[in-house]
Amino acid sequence: MSNKQMVLIVDDSPSILKMLASCIKGLCEMKTAHSGQECLEVAAQIPQPDLILLDVSMPEMDGYEVCELLKANPVTAAIPVIFVTGLQGEKDEEKGLMVGAVDYITKPFRPAIVAARVNTHLTIKLQQDKLNQLAFYDQLTGLYNRHYLMDVAKQKIQAAQQEQHPLWVLMIDVDHFKSINDNHGHSVGDIVLQQVGEALAASGEQSDVTARSGGEEFVILFDLCEDEEAFNKAISVLDAIESLNPHGINVTISIGMAKISDQDKDFDSLLKRADIALYKAKENGRNRLELAF
Ligand code: GH3
Ligand code: MG
Ligand code: MG
Repeated sequence: MSNKQMVLIVDDSPSILKMLASCIKGLCEMKTAHSGQECLEVAAQIPQPDLILLDVSMPEMDGYEVCELLKANPVTAAIPVIFVTGLQGEKDEEKGLMVGAVDYITKPFRPAIVAARVNTHLTIKLQQDKLNQLAFYDQLTGLYNRHYLMDVAKQKIQAAQQEQHPLWVLMIDVDHFKSINDNHGHSVGDIVLQQVGEALAASGEQSDVTARSGGEEFVILFDLCEDEEAFNKAISVLDAIESLNPHGINVTISIGMAKISDQDKDFDSLLKRADIALYKAKENGRNRLELAF
């Protein structure tokens, strides 16, 4: 989470853009857009805005339509929108709130009111982000947690079954981790877990899901990969950890690897097969990979 929040100001009039920007200067970072279309594009780009100040009357696409499109797109749906408009009727305000805006400011606006409302909604957004951070991320490694993994896995398995494309799961367990704790202390153990997590996340593509599923166990999910490519990828994960030497300690992992098949009705069954393969990797000497049947 970056420290400074960002507001996207959208208006077809350059002078209003300037006035709004001067109202909230110092509260946040800012970006501007001059049309609905530009707003939709900028809102989806990273870093995404934490709040959008959206003009209602614009040529081509009006603010209501822009807001509806923002709310319909999962990538932008969570960004709060405040309408800024010359329309003063109650019906207009009602419509703005109906299409998903959190607030409504009328022109001519008072700078202090704009600043206060923006401040309020940025604070709420920050609290929301913190809650999401706690709900979906593992606090030690910053990776996704088990809860998020199970959620996203459900969607991935459905997509894989519908579109008939491969889905892979790597179940990863650090070898003899208990003895790392015993020999170096629990806080060094924590640092090792952080560095292993970082290396696992760095080893994949952006679309891969890397999660800490518990203790010293991690899961990587990836799709759209042919067998040989998937196998090479798993081997490179093993190698990356073996050469990591976190805190100067020689650390290895074992991997159980499974590919979705017709026998997998749900994610649990795929995960179970990967878990059995992981158990085999441990039995067969650790620092190795076993493929599930
Ligand atoms: P194996 O190769 O069979 O996996 O052996 P292991 O020692 O890694 O497995 P075991 O399950 O016996 O021990 C896992 C240890 O991981 C025990 C637990 O105290 C430690 N552990 C779990 N979570 C954390 C954590 O957040 N931080 C630290 N430092 N240790 C943790
Ligand atoms: Mg374990
Ligand atoms: Mg272990």
